[in-house]
Formats: sequence, structure tokens, C-alpha cells
Amino acid sequence: MSVDDLTRADPGFGVYIHWPFCAQKCPYCDFNSHVRFAGWDEDRFLAAYLRELDTTAQRIGKRTVASIFFGGGTPSLMKPETVAAILDRIGELWSVRPDAEITLEANPGSVEAQRFAGYRAAGINRVSMGFQSLRDEDLKRLGRIHSVADAKAALAIARTTFERYSFDLIYARPGQTPDAWRSELKEALDLADSHVSLYQLTIEPDTPYAALHAAGKLIVPDPDAALALYEITQELTSAGGLLPYEISNHARPGEESRHNLLYWRYGEYAGIGPGAHGRTIVESQRTATVAERHPETWADLVEAQGHGLIEETPISASEQADEMLLMGLRLREGIDLDRLAKLGGVRPSEGAIAHLKELGMIDVAHGATFEPELPGNWRNNELDSIPMCAGPGLPPDAGHNAPPPSLIRATPKGRFVLNAVVSELSKSFTASV
Ligand code: SF4
Repeated sequence: MSVDDLTRADPGFGVYIHWPFCAQKCPYCDFNSHVRFAGWDEDRFLAAYLRELDTTAQRIGKRTVASIFFGGGTPSLMKPETVAAILDRIGELWSVRPDAEITLEANPGSVEAQRFAGYRAAGINRVSMGFQSLRDEDLKRLGRIHSVADAKAALAIARTTFERYSFDLIYARPGQTPDAWRSELKEALDLADSHVSLYQLTIEPDTPYAALHAAGKLIVPDPDAALALYEITQELTSAGGLLPYEISNHARPGEESRHNLLYWRYGEYAGIGPGAHGRTIVESQRTATVAERHPETWADLVEAQGHGLIEETPISASEQADEMLLMGLRLREGIDLDRLAKLGGVRPSEGAIAHLKELGMIDVAHGATFEPELPGNWRNNELDSIPMCAGPGLPPDAGHNAPPPSLIRATPKGRFVLNAVVSELSKSFTASV
């Protein structure tokens, strides 16, 4: 499958389906996931998903669907017939590209893997599995209920069932040394096909991990140690041909996650299900939608009013500029400044761009593409602080006579401190002429 015809300028339209249930709550997780030991009424939830899809299609009108993503929660707890019915309804409401990427997130337990053939028959062509670690003792510490052997067995089934598969690992775990991560990542890359997602463990508020961390009972690597692990990640994935196309995502060229690219390229997507977020465009107005998080309350709302939305907020031009900057700078392909100006009516000042470029935090291009990223040598400068820019009016460096750039992107170093880079660029926004 190729993503070549979906671009920064035209990221396409996608549908996100949120399945909110998990077999058990992982102690680090702040996703909208809920445990129901007595089970759930799957027929009721299916009816609610179908009804919310109908209402969404009435609201936004015709679209061509480039990607569909079942996320969660644990969507591999859904019956294959539920997945099939949702995909059938999407196909009735909208036109779906024949090469649409249709992904389902799966936990690699043995029960879930037995359903893979059913998901494939339903129309799923890509599976993304939450391995999280290839070390049994760390899986236990992460509160996972699968083993490394389960993960490898699920992978073997995925390989022969789906056109594409990916898996996730979490690194910068408590006590993880650079040598330990290097060895685990090498094993993972031997198992990988064309895509892996490698996330740094973050301590999210209001989780059991946050409480343990606050009590000094859970020590995660400090920023320097985390940076060393990030550097190993960039080095090994690139050497293996799985290029870092986003901060945490690595793929062979053309095998990027089409659905996730759509988010980061600031495309349009409908969010369906409890807690799902959407960004839809109706009569040229981009709107943020947020659904009720609690599953049964969401189903009550859908039954009463046809949808579970609790927020439907027009996004102003300047908010669109900030959102596009925040999402797009995650990507190695960067941001088209003309599109930013068209959506948000603003451009970052040349002074801020020159300043960040001088610090090695961003690259600029004056044509349609960047020069290849230079490997290595990006640890030499300070990473934990960016000296403040003098402001939007700061003139470009002396001798900087090049025309304004057409594209900007964060360098690997800039992606590691992305919030600071986004903040400086956003503060420098001036009205586009
Ligand atoms: S399985 Fe995934 S969504 Fe569910 S609790 Fe664990 S991390 Fe969260």
C-alpha cells in the first residue's frame, strides 16, 4: 500500500472508532478505557456506533474515506461481527477507497489472536499490537496480562493474516539501561515488518504510576538518560531502514500509518464512540468534536439524540495555526508554511525561524522537499532550554538573504523538545500578507 497520493496539502479523510473496554487497567494508562468484569452489552453498543455514524454522515455529508482506525481501549475485545457491521455501515454512508488502510489495535493475548482471521474477513487489513516490552518481568511491572511468548505467537498469526502489521514498545522504563534497551530493540527490529511505534514512558496524572512516582517508589530515567535511550532508538531504527517519520513512529518509506499521518498533517477525521475526538469541516468551518467518555452514558446519549457529542466547537483561524504547528512538527516531513498561512492566516516570523535554525532545532527548505537529515551530532547543544527569541520583530541573521522558507521541520534534536519549539514559533506568529 502506498501513501504517496495523500500529501501534506491533501491529507484525506479518516474515521476513528473508539472501543472503550479493556480486560484490565494498566497502571500507567490515562486513555479512555474501562473495565467491566460483568461484560458489556455488545448489541447495544453496536447499535449506538451505527446510529452515531448515521448522524455524523448527515452532519458532514459525502466524503471519500482513506483510512479507518479502531482504537481504544482494547478493540480486539470486539466480536469480529461487530467490526464487520461497523465497516459495512461506513461503506454504505461514504465512499471508501479500495486501498483504504483499515487498522485495528490489538492486545497480543491468545484470545485476541484467535479472532484475527475474523477481523481480516471483516475488512481489517492492518493490525497494530501493543507488545509494550519483550521482557516478561517488565510486562508484569507494566501491569500487562500477556507474556512475551503470547506476543510472538500473535505476531506469527498477524504475519499470515494481515497485509501489514505493526507493534508498540514502551521504553525509558524504570531501571532500563542503554545496553538493555539496545538489546531489546535489536530483538524487536528482527521481529518488525515495515512499521514500529516506540514510545517513551510518561507519567500521566491521576494514574497509579503517578501516585507511585510521587511517593518515590517508581523512578523513571532522568532527561539525560531518556535522551540516551531516544538516541539509541533513532540510531537502530534508521540503521534497520525503519525511518523515524514521527517522534515515536518508524516505517519503511511508503509504509507509514496513513491514519496517523492524517492527524499529524491536520487532515479531517470523524471520531465515533465514547470519548472520541474529531476534526470535521462543514461549510468551510473546521470544528472540534468531543464525545462523552463514560461508555454507558455515551450510549444513553446516542439513544436519546443520535450522537454522544458533548462538545462541538468551531476552531478559529489562529487556533488552527497552533494545532497544525503542534501536529505537523511531529513529522519529519515538516509543515508547508503556505498551507499554514491559508488555514491560520499567520506565519512564524523569520527571526524565530532563524533563531531555532541556528540552535539546530529546525530545518528549513525553499523548495518542495528537504535535504536529507544529517545523522548524529545533535547531542552537542543544550536540549533542555531554548534561549528566548527577542520576539517576532527580530531581524534575520546578518547575511541571511535567502527568500522566506516554504517548509519547516523540527530536527531530531528539536523533536525531543518539541513543546519549546512550538511555543517559540507560535509566539512569533504574524499576520500573513
Ligand atoms: S490495554 Fe491499553 S488502553 Fe487498556 S488499560 Fe492497558 S494501556 Fe490502557
